[in-house]
Amino acid sequence: MTDHCIFCKIIAREARADIVYHDEQVTAFRDIHPVAPTHILIVPNKHIESVNAVAPEDEPLMGHLFTVAGKLAREEGIHHNGYRLIVNTGADGGQTVFHLHLHLIGGQRMQHPMG
Ligand code: 5GP
Ligand code: ZN
Repeated sequence: MTDHCIFCKIIAREARADIVYHDEQVTAFRDIHPVAPTHILIVPNKHIESVNAVAPEDEPLMGHLFTVAGKLAREEGIHHNGYRLIVNTGADGGQTVFHLHLHLIGGQRMQHPMG
């Protein structure tokens, strides 16, 4: 738990969110400003600022984010049509919350390869 981190507060249930999945390693909740019908953020319960701070011992945890992404995509019914997974990193990457998270975005055709 890191003070002043909104995602740590959501994980600790100190801030409200529409949580769709949680286990001992990760928490997933709907983005407050969805850009598509499905827009879920999958976050490690451990506070990791960004990909820059991922350490070798985090590899099982990083892999688990993807396992949960696939499970949620199936539950959302977007696995056949496809979806996008995004990890914004740093200022140029457009990261605004400095607690690593995987965006799961789908339910509509993306207009641009990276947009
Ligand atoms: P980033 O720009 O860092 O990749 O993504 C941060 C995302 O977190 C944004 O899409 C933003 O809408 C979302 N977000 C920021 N604050 C909150 C919050 O308090 N609750 C939820 N559910 N999403 C948030
Ligand atoms: Zn945090």
